[in-house]
Amino acid sequence: MAKQNKEWAVGIDLGTTYSCVAVWLEEHCRVEIIHNDQGNRTTPSSVAFTENQRLIGDAAKNQAAINPTNTIFDVKRLIGRRFSDPIIQDDLKLWSFKVIADSGDKPMIVVSYKGLEKHISAEEISSMILTKMREIAEAYLESQVKNVVVTVPAYFNDSQRQATKDAGTIAGLNVMRIINEPTAAALAYGLHKRANCVEERNIFIFDLGGGTFDVSLLTIKGDVFEVKATAGDTHLGGEDLDNRMVKYFVEEFKRKNKVDISRNPRALRRLRTACERAKRTLSYAVDTTIEVDALSESIDFCSSITRARFEELNMDLFKKCMDTVDRCLVDSKMEKSDVDDVVLVGGSSRIPKVQQLLRDFFKGKELCLSINPDEAVAYGAAVQAALLSKGNKYVPNLVLLDVTPLSLGISVKEDLMSVVIPKNTTIPVQKTKGYGRSEDFQSAVLIEVYEGERTRASDNNLLGFFNLYGDPYARRDHPLTVCFSIDADGILSVTAEEESSGSKNGITVTNDKGRLSTQQIMRLIQEAEKYKAEDQKYQKKVQAINALDDFVYKIRNAIEDVENSYKVHPQDKMKVNMAIAEARELLDASQQTETEVFVNHLNEVKSLIEPIMRIN
Ligand code: AMP
Repeated sequence: MAKQNKEWAVGIDLGTTYSCVAVWLEEHCRVEIIHNDQGNRTTPSSVAFTENQRLIGDAAKNQAAINPTNTIFDVKRLIGRRFSDPIIQDDLKLWSFKVIADSGDKPMIVVSYKGLEKHISAEEISSMILTKMREIAEAYLESQVKNVVVTVPAYFNDSQRQATKDAGTIAGLNVMRIINEPTAAALAYGLHKRANCVEERNIFIFDLGGGTFDVSLLTIKGDVFEVKATAGDTHLGGEDLDNRMVKYFVEEFKRKNKVDISRNPRALRRLRTACERAKRTLSYAVDTTIEVDALSESIDFCSSITRARFEELNMDLFKKCMDTVDRCLVDSKMEKSDVDDVVLVGGSSRIPKVQQLLRDFFKGKELCLSINPDEAVAYGAAVQAALLSKGNKYVPNLVLLDVTPLSLGISVKEDLMSVVIPKNTTIPVQKTKGYGRSEDFQSAVLIEVYEGERTRASDNNLLGFFNLYGDPYARRDHPLTVCFSIDADGILSVTAEEESSGSKNGITVTNDKGRLSTQQIMRLIQEAEKYKAEDQKYQKKVQAINALDDFVYKIRNAIEDVENSYKVHPQDKMKVNMAIAEARELLDASQQTETEVFVNHLNEVKSLIEPIMRIN
């Protein structure tokens, strides 16, 4: 197939609960959402570790109930955050796996893999999911894939973006660009509608996924997609709705049975799966039942929930979504009536109450449900990947103008936040601002870089800091300049300069504690290769075991077959039975046995059997 010689670039939507990969097919002038080995177009963002192997995607999710402490999900909620972050502390209570802090307050997930305890970062788990998505694409394209565009929530801050990029590097990928999820969805929507988009259209993207919530207001005119404002919450999504239902039923179980399952990971995991299913059902039915056999202490759990109760449990979260919608509109300086289309993205946007509140907010406006909410983000990412690659003549020549979601600045006198780049500024961007020294005779001026909207710098998020060593005899108010630049991925670099002394210093802002160092990333790249090799080795072993098991099964059936049995000489029959018994012994001790032993034994059995009887 012609697919093989091309250098492919794919778009990956790395979601909290599900991920999706898509590619632009030049010869068909369209985007293909790529299905995985199970035939599914989205893949669970889960990784599991067992005694023998590592599992990613559907295979990991399917065994979650029997291996809850080693089945990892939700890492998008951890990535780029500190362990002490109150949000993480809250999540910890509902996760069935264990998370601890390393010496730098970085959250590390504790798993048992092949009988050994391992501490794994969120970047590493994300890199495993990215690797899986890459393999899905490679299987479909029958070719290697290295170049990717990865999406992140528009409201992801600098450290969360950096950490996502690091995950790509650990997976051995070339992350061509990090783009915002709602912007990617707008690309997908805009492509559908482009024919009618000669006139300027204001599009409101409402993206409520598994773990994050984003809204963006864009103007589309011809080929130019310009984001006007964005707002969101990187910790609000379907999982929070599941959590509410889990808590509700934990209480009910306690009340009815006097058994508290809140510290029982296996029970929590099974209840959560049932709750998520019930939540989906409530999007089309007005009530549903929950049934979990032997939830705890052999007690079966059976209950029901109405859509009204579900809405009541989550009303404050739905209202929070609407406040964010309002904020985005205010920031974009537009009226509700200026919005032409309201586009729904993300699995949780299917919830009827969310749709109703949104419709009411926009004064009865019909919502656009024409794009698939689970796939739109990957679709847009694939278009962007094609735009950034060489040799795609037919990909629509779109121009994306995105914005930075949070204000960026430095701390000045009295802990004031001095904004250098205000939120919702179009990126890439570079801005320089002049400052004066705060005191006489400072040997170094400390530059602290923050992001956020609070007046007091220390109430915002500290991204990093550095010293500018200038003229030690300079007096107070002596001038210096600070330059902020944000690249197309939304990643920030800061420099400071004192012209009088020619002194200059700066950083690509790395979260001093949260981010992996280059050495750590290099080590993790090697480990990722090791994991891959181990997975392949295990797969080979499983294949060898299955081949031997299958062959032995067939011989045993054939030898037991009365007709065959007469034809086989009793001495040969004894030989065959011995070979079967030996094979069974090997199969029973498969943990300790090497792959080659199975392969060799199969060959031996085959050459022994062939002269005696014909087995296919
Ligand atoms: P996404 O991150 O866009 O893949 O969204 C995944 C989230 O959407 C998960 O929390 C799902 O439980 C949720 N979801 C998917 N389908 C539905 C549905 N029909 N009703 C309610 N929530 C849904």
